[in-house]
Amino acid sequence: MRAVPTWTWLEGHPALDLANTVKRTGMQEHDLLRSPRDLDSWLDAAALPAPRPETVDEADLAAVIALRDPALRLLRAAVGRGPWLAADVGAVNAVLLAAPEIELVGDAPGARTHQPLGEPAVLPRLLARLAAEVRDAAARPDLAFCDAPGCGQLFYRHRTNQAWCGPPCGNRARVARHGA
Ligand SMILES: [Zn+2]
Repeated sequence: MRAVPTWTWLEGHPALDLANTVKRTGMQEHDLLRSPRDLDSWLDAAALPAPRPETVDEADLAAVIALRDPALRLLRAAVGRGPWLAADVGAVNAVLLAAPEIELVGDAPGARTHQPLGEPAVLPRLLARLAAEVRDAAARPDLAFCDAPGCGQLFYRHRTNQAWCGPPCGNRARVARHGA
C-alpha cells in the first residue's frame, strides 16, 4: 500500500496547509490528497481552525478537494500566478455560505470567536472555517509562491523581496539554474 504523506513541510497556517497539499517533485506537481487515508493523516498534521471529523470517507475527500482546488487557484492568482476565476470565487463562497458564522468579541484584547449560525455538521463547519482562512490569506500582502524545484508552495514572506520559502529552496533553485 502506498505510504501516506508525512506533511513535514506544513507550517501551521490553515489556508496554506490546505493549498500545500499539492507539492512538487522536481517541477512536477503531485496531489497528495488521493485517498481517505491521506486526508485522515492531513487532518492530524494540518493547522485546523475547527474540529476535524473523527473518520473520513471518499465523500469527505471529495468535499475537501472541492474546496482545495478552487482555493489553490485563487491563492495562486492572488500572487499573480493565473487568473482569478469567477467559478473559483463561487465555489469558495458556496462553502462559506453552507455554514455561515458571525465573529464575536473574544476573551482577550484582539481575540475573536467564531459563532456558527445554526448547527452545521463537523465537516461543513471545518470547510467553512478553512474557506474563511483562504479568503483572508488571499488578501495578505505577504502571501508568496516559492517557485523552487521540489517545492511550489505558498508561504508568507518574512521580509519584502523574499523569493524562496526558505534557504534550502534558494539553494535548490540556484543548483537547478547552474545545471540548465
Ligand atoms: Zn520553497
